Amino acid sequence: MNGYDAPTIEISCDDSHPENPYEVARFARLTDGWALLPAWMHADVDGVSPRKRRQRDDIVVRVKGRKRYNLPCEVCGVTVPARDERLQPILDIIHSAGLQSLPLTALPARLRRSGAM
Ligand SMILES: [Zn+2]
Repeated sequence: MNGYDAPTIEISCDDSHPENPYEVARFARLTDGWALLPAWMHADVDGVSPRKRRQRDDIVVRVKGRKRYNLPCEVCGVTVPARDERLQPILDIIHSAGLQSLPLTALPARLRRSGAM
């Protein structure tokens, strides 16, 4: 299995700007969990060429060996921080439900339900 064939989940933001949806991040399920795909693999959902849109360097933060994400919408400015170990089970749930996307604005409530941000 490689990253191209793996199931993916897109985190996107369009609540306050439905005319201009923004793909925040896309995760692919690999053998050892969900991994952030590089920006050039993103689907072209917002009219910006994936090659032109640079994924922000600070989307992944490593603190003392733990990985966390800062998931930013560059259209409305919402940023949701999420620890990797909290995000993994949420992505599993989304995938189990047969869904392939998660609104950025729905993530904080899911993170709270799973324990902590
Ligand atoms: Zn937004």
